[in-house]
Amino acid sequence: MTPEKLSIAIVGAGIGGMTAAATLRQIGVSVRVYEQAPRFARIGAGIQMMPNSMKVLRRIGVEEKVLHTSFQPYSHLNREWDTGKIMRELPMPESLFGAPYLCMHRADLHEALAAVVPRDIIHLDKQLLGLEQKGRQVTLAFADGTRAQADAVIGADGVHSVVRDIIIGPDEPIHKGRIAYRAIFSSGLLNGMDIGLSRTKWWGPDRHIVIYYTNATRTELYFVTSVPEPAEWVTRESWSAKGDVKELRKAYEDFHPDVRAVLEACPDCHKWAILEREPLPRWSEGRVVLLGDACHPMTPYMAQGGATAIEDAAILARCLAEVEGEDLSAAFERYEAHRKPRTSRIQAISSANTWMKGGSEDTSWLYGYDAWNVPLTPLEPYVKSV
Ligand SMILES: Cc1cc2nc3c(=O)[nH]c(=O)nc-3n(C[C@H](O)[C@H](O)[C@H](O)COP(=O)(O)OP(=O)(O)OC[C@H]3O[C@@H](n4cnc5c(N)ncnc54)[C@H](O)[C@@H]3O)c2cc1C
Repeated sequence: MTPEKLSIAIVGAGIGGMTAAATLRQIGVSVRVYEQAPRFARIGAGIQMMPNSMKVLRRIGVEEKVLHTSFQPYSHLNREWDTGKIMRELPMPESLFGAPYLCMHRADLHEALAAVVPRDIIHLDKQLLGLEQKGRQVTLAFADGTRAQADAVIGADGVHSVVRDIIIGPDEPIHKGRIAYRAIFSSGLLNGMDIGLSRTKWWGPDRHIVIYYTNATRTELYFVTSVPEPAEWVTRESWSAKGDVKELRKAYEDFHPDVRAVLEACPDCHKWAILEREPLPRWSEGRVVLLGDACHPMTPYMAQGGATAIEDAAILARCLAEVEGEDLSAAFERYEAHRKPRTSRIQAISSANTWMKGGSEDTSWLYGYDAWNVPLTPLEPYVKSV
């Protein structure tokens, strides 16, 4: 079967699912996306898009949509929590890694992705409950009692992936015992204070906070933290759970005055339990394959969860474009063989939270990666990296 005749159902219209819809359509696959949410909501959070993901977004027409509205930080700036001393600074001009480094509202990224995927292939209010593989078809069963069929299924359904539970077996993600507070708000509330032109991470002994603007006009800023949370607190409704801004300010009361000023100005915040998983033993089963947080959820400390989901989408499309006949499982294994060493490495560094804490370790392997042009792992023999 050539990609032009292949029909693929994507479960989840998040960052990875929407990117995969765009990359697969580019190789001629017939795509449908099934999303459990009844509508796309404008969740109050920022997202950093690093050059490695921007290269993928460029080829599907998303870079041009976000380039002029997003904030382009001068550098990754890492500072000590109390003195403000610079631990490491990495200027990020576009010329360094071949694509810009942008910070934006998460919803602006999602809207730009939605603009390159035809609305009529996205089916909302479709919560996947079950999958059945028979012969050359996979049947998807949804909570509303409806069913759909496709030649293959991509599980892009996030950290609590049902597709992962079905093909690998159920288990819970690892709870890090930490909370990410986050808020996006008007920089007018800072009373003239400027947070600077970099994305700044303030490193404390057992907690940190990352602060940046999310739009080109710098009228909006965002922060995201990592703070120990004694009681285990997990939510499946993570993006909408409210945090207590007074507790948050208390958690950072000894930090540098610039950090305290940002938290004082912040009117309201949300919280998110920080979750991750160990690398999975495999990413596919027959005609079903995983992508993004469904197969390699990571802590947000390197800002690479969305970026690696975006990279996955490009590599998966390349592997499917080269597949001979109907050998979908060969394409899926090749995709996994190529991707897993990289995502496992990122998961491990992100988990340790050491990225750019100081020193001068190489960053080009991460930001210089170009998913469209990197040589793929040869089809034969496979070296399965588990
Ligand atoms: C606080 C925080 C900050 C972050 N900052 C960054 C950053 O700066 N840069 C970066 O690259 N990454 C960042 N990340 C990581 C990034 O958000 C995730 O890695 C990324 O969203 C993963 O994309 P995904 O498509 O795999 O999953 P998601 O974006 O979670 O999408 C999954 C989709 O599947 C849907 N779904 C779930 N179950 C079902 C079902 N049964 N049926 C149908 N649909 C279903 C969900 O509703 C959702 O729309 C951050 C994460 C956190 C928590």
